[in-house]
Amino acid sequence: MPSLEAGGVSLDVTVFLGAPGSGKGTQAKRLSETAGFVHLSTGDMLRAAIKNQSTVGKKVQAIVDRGELVPDETMIELIEAELEILPENQKVILDGFPRSAPQAEALAKSSVAVVKRVVYLKVPETVLIKRLTGRRMCSGCGKSFHMIYFPPPRDMRCDHCQSEIIQRKDDGEDVVANRLEVYREQTEPLLDFYRRQNKLKEINGDSQISEVQNKLLELIHGSN
Ligand code: AMP
Repeated sequence: MPSLEAGGVSLDVTVFLGAPGSGKGTQAKRLSETAGFVHLSTGDMLRAAIKNQSTVGKKVQAIVDRGELVPDETMIELIEAELEILPENQKVILDGFPRSAPQAEALAKSSVAVVKRVVYLKVPETVLIKRLTGRRMCSGCGKSFHMIYFPPPRDMRCDHCQSEIIQRKDDGEDVVANRLEVYREQTEPLLDFYRRQNKLKEINGDSQISEVQNKLLELIHGSN
């Protein structure tokens, strides 16, 4: 991250913490469309890099497919490059970063990003597993579907762009189990890290998308 001596702009950062499948991406996308937030998803960045077979993409593909964490240095560099180009005072949601103690420490030292609040989307594990294993996505535009809650068209072609609808490799049952374990071991300790700084706000993520969105808005506006 840029050093403190570098001075520079302050981005108003909200971190979304929560297990895979807790709805971070869904909620962040809505806030970016309606409430002026820039949504930075490290998972989306990595999937784009893999799709384009960039140098980073080739390096991380197998790691992402196994549901493990990409090395901290790679992730810190990626997110730093995205943060540095944003205008002063921009409101940002970090979705999927930080995911480990070294990442959280790097973010805390950033001179451009100020973590104002950390929202923890709490969802029971049984619900997470159902959400993740039923999830499907369009291979073209990324639109999300779910075999039970939001079924894709029968021909498995996206109704938005006609591309094929697929299951993410890391949404298969075995990889989901691994992702949840990685989350418990490496990411969950960050809850305490931010709780100690009085930045952690908890939300029940096991309810309707619109209900969670309303609570999020209340919480973000109430913590300025
Ligand atoms: P997500 O879409 O957030 O579930 O991320 C998909 C995958 O990308 C994860 O299972 C990791 O392999 C990788 N990934 C995303 N963000 C990070 C991060 N901050 N640190 C390490 N790996 C990450």
